[in-house]
Amino acid sequence: MIDAHIHLEKYDNVEEHIKKWQAAGVEKVVAVSNDLPSSYRTLELKEQYPAFVLAGCGFHPEMSLPAPSDFQEWLRLVKIERENITCIGEIGLPHYELDDLPFSLQAYQEFLIECFQVAEEHHLPVALHAVHDKAKMVYDMLQMHAPTISAHFHWLKAPPNVVRNITASGYFISVTPEVCYRGRDQQLAEMVPDHQLLLETDGPWPFQGPFAGEKTTPLLIDRVIDFLAPKKDERPETLKQKLDDNLTRMYGG
Ligand SMILES: [Zn+2]
Repeated sequence: MIDAHIHLEKYDNVEEHIKKWQAAGVEKVVAVSNDLPSSYRTLELKEQYPAFVLAGCGFHPEMSLPAPSDFQEWLRLVKIERENITCIGEIGLPHYELDDLPFSLQAYQEFLIECFQVAEEHHLPVALHAVHDKAKMVYDMLQMHAPTISAHFHWLKAPPNVVRNITASGYFISVTPEVCYRGRDQQLAEMVPDHQLLLETDGPWPFQGPFAGEKTTPLLIDRVIDFLAPKKDERPETLKQKLDDNLTRMYGG
């Protein structure tokens, strides 16, 4: 069981959780970061659990842009810790918070291009937050500014033509447990070719439907596989193996 996108450093007593998750069969997680302190924390967890944590370092786009000094320090961190970093993420463009943030969309676009350059320079893939109308913007930016880097559009919400462009370009797309109870996500899971699909929880983000009131953990991934397997005409074990292979192709190790 692998979780392709989780905010590990947001869990209290994460060490205890990891112990339980590993005992229950979670093999690894892609742990993304939201800012400079969270990038440090994710790298600490990587050091503690080297095989379990695939570390992403980045700046969440639904937050204020980093101070220039933080960004400079982060650039140094990425350089020093390159060996321990699996991806640049979570990065992207703001959507939900855009109207309340003290920066323009253009400022986020310029910053995202800088992040793409970091990914390119270090030969790292990117974990992207790019939803609704921002999905096409980020897709176009990738094509124009960083066509060689691998990208994962996490918890994507986008019109079918944009989804088709994203998959035609070889990028990966993940769905969350929301796919078990929401038509929009079910249609997306159907559209994404099996070899480009990933599963994530975006934990600790809480879910509704059959998961209402439950704490979000990577253990939900198995239930998502059980839900999706018949829809994809696969046995759960076969689907799981395919999705694990996808994660290895996207993120390595
Ligand atoms: Zn996230």
